[in-house]
Amino acid sequence: MTTEQTHSERMKALQAEQKKKTSEARDPGRGLVLVHTGNGKGKSSSAFGVIIRALGWKQKVGIVQFIKGKWITGEKQFFMNFKDQVDWHTMGEGFTWDTQDRERDIAAAESAFSKACSMMQSGDYDLVVLDEINIALRYDYLDIQAVIDGLKARSDRTSVILTGRDARPELCDYADLVSEMTEVKHPFKAGIKAQRGIDF
Ligand code: ATP
Ligand code: MG
Repeated sequence: MTTEQTHSERMKALQAEQKKKTSEARDPGRGLVLVHTGNGKGKSSSAFGVIIRALGWKQKVGIVQFIKGKWITGEKQFFMNFKDQVDWHTMGEGFTWDTQDRERDIAAAESAFSKACSMMQSGDYDLVVLDEINIALRYDYLDIQAVIDGLKARSDRTSVILTGRDARPELCDYADLVSEMTEVKHPFKAGIKAQRGIDF
């Protein structure tokens, strides 16, 4: 048998196997829970990529940001052009990396989470993104069980993406999808500051 024949037979077998898997795959009947974690770049920007997919299908999207960004971001300016499809909520008195007031941070995180819960339960959204919520969990600003209960209570229509480093194992156990971004290289390590359009 020539190498070409062997290759074509292998591909046929692979294709058949893939077809079988695809035909057996079921619809979950409910929105999925996705976690983007890890130390590498791409957790939030990947979530924004999924939002664009949803918008393309005329779906309704909610975003709750658990970290008060110090910059105006490109994504926020962009999504403001889709006000009929996107509801954007930034944590009011949001905490930053260098915050000193724990009580205020907890209150802010809880208020943002309560907003997130009403979005998830309302049945009005196809996708809700809880950006950097893992950071709030990591500092115990939010209770992990409360977050999982909130996810469980989501409308069947609603998928949820949770982003941020150090995702809790309990959250990863509950989620349908967990992706870990691995840092191979980052310009910050070479002393390059965050770039407009790339980082924010
Ligand atoms: P992005 O929003 O670009 O997808 P991210 O959500 O994965 O990044 P965060 O932990 O939220 O990462 O960090 C936000 C900011 O920090 C971004 O400006 C990002 O470029 C930068 N950043 C991400 N990963 C690293 C890293 N490993 N070292 C230094 N800076 C990073
Ligand atoms: Mg992020």
